[in-house]
Amino acid sequence: MSQEQQAVARARKAFETGRSKPLEYRIIQLKNLQRLFAERQKDIADAVKKDLNKSECGTQLYETLGVEGEIDLALKKLKEWAAPRPVEKNLLTLSDTVYVKPEPLGVVLIIGAWNYPWAITIQPLIGAIAAGNAAVVKPSEVCVHTSKVMEELLPIYIDKELYPVVTGGVTETQELLRQRFDHIFYTGNSMVGRVVMEAASKHLTPVTLELGGKSPCYIDKDCDISIACRRVAWGKYTNCGQTCIAPDYILCEPSVQDRVIQEVKKAVKEFYTDNPKTCPDYGRIINQRHFKRIMGLLDDTTVAAGGDNDEADCFIAPTILRDVKPEAKVMQEEIFGPLLPILPISGLDEAIKYINKREKPLALYVFSSHDKVIHRMRDETSSGGFLANDCLVHFSVNSLPFGGVGNSGMGCYHGKYSFDQLSHLRGCLIKKLNMEGVNSMRYPPHTPKKLGWARFFILKTANLGWMGRMVLFAVVAVVAAAVLQKYLL
Ligand code: NAD
Repeated sequence: MSQEQQAVARARKAFETGRSKPLEYRIIQLKNLQRLFAERQKDIADAVKKDLNKSECGTQLYETLGVEGEIDLALKKLKEWAAPRPVEKNLLTLSDTVYVKPEPLGVVLIIGAWNYPWAITIQPLIGAIAAGNAAVVKPSEVCVHTSKVMEELLPIYIDKELYPVVTGGVTETQELLRQRFDHIFYTGNSMVGRVVMEAASKHLTPVTLELGGKSPCYIDKDCDISIACRRVAWGKYTNCGQTCIAPDYILCEPSVQDRVIQEVKKAVKEFYTDNPKTCPDYGRIINQRHFKRIMGLLDDTTVAAGGDNDEADCFIAPTILRDVKPEAKVMQEEIFGPLLPILPISGLDEAIKYINKREKPLALYVFSSHDKVIHRMRDETSSGGFLANDCLVHFSVNSLPFGGVGNSGMGCYHGKYSFDQLSHLRGCLIKKLNMEGVNSMRYPPHTPKKLGWARFFILKTANLGWMGRMVLFAVVAVVAAAVLQKYLL
């Protein structure tokens, strides 16, 4: 048996003991995880510094704060989320108990990516624990140091049989993917997303795919360009552009392009000084393979600012590209690096057309002072998330579902959405054995008269409000059994 098979088998066996199900046990595990983040910030930050050159504050701000918030929320809300959810009833079920009961799915596989290694890997794990599942955690091998620290720390704090960490790259992940899971939660690029979905189909395993793509950013000429560009520069250059929801490129009218360049440059200087290379808050490209890929995207482009680089240090300066054409190489794939192309377009109509001709993005940004512009962009396009006059921050609002649509992914998570995503929402209807007369309309022999009653019970009351239905039910319930007994049987 391979190591991966063993880990899955152990997790399955642990799940079958039933110990992940009681709310008290889930709460203990979540509190233990909370303790990990309280006690091991330094180990976490050191590893992320080595992997991505993030500062300690940066790691807390962009990685662990969100995770801590998700744990807090799950601890506060778990009872409410896990409780049976009564649903509206129709006339036929008014005397029954009808509800949705969230129940654990079983063993979940979580495959993480490297760019925010803690946030991306642990947030789904919080959902998995809260929902009462076992979970096999596979951090990305690309963030070498973080993956090692995660493998060391998680088993110290949480149940190591229920939530094992499996490290490794493509071979190990593919071995995992051959095993049977009850859900696979994958974060990464769309190509591997297809590999994951294909493997999942063999066992009919449901998947959540948190993918990427090119997230557009439209800057309307009627907005405070200075503020807009500061927010865009922050969204783009945080983590050296290696953020799934970073604004990938700017669409704006030619008349504002120079101003946009000037203001983004100003913000870069404000955030990262004149020399980003020595600024502790400016990150590095994860490895030389990605460095080369990003530098290759500069072919056929005009650099308006930045462009400095150092392969040995995986450093690429915050870079702005002007007058970029749709056919340019940099516009053919997700950049995932600190290059900000500006595509001049004639206005909102063309921006909408441009966006709609391409794959549905993970995030869509619009900067404008006019609600009409914001609403048109929202209503005439589609994307995983939509944000007006800011970048990235929707990720931190755990009352919003986070996820893609079309090529940017399927399924969503954060807060209660994680809990629901990793639960089976079981529809339950508990009847009593009385009132048999009401049921006779559905038993053979079928007659037009019985059908008429069925139509009445199912359809005629559909448009009544709550009060109307209650009153009608009171009347109908009293007479139904007798009437049905008399006329239908
Ligand atoms: P990555 O290289 O770390 O790969 C992700 C995971 O897939 C890893 O655990 C890796 O081991 C596994 N993997 C890689 N190749 C595989 C293969 N052939 N078969 C099976 N498993 C394989 O990360 P990445 O793909 O470079 O991540 C960057 C992408 O992820 C970007 O497109 C980014 O937009 C996206 N992303 C999305 C989100 C989101 O929440 N939607 C978050 C972060 C990143």
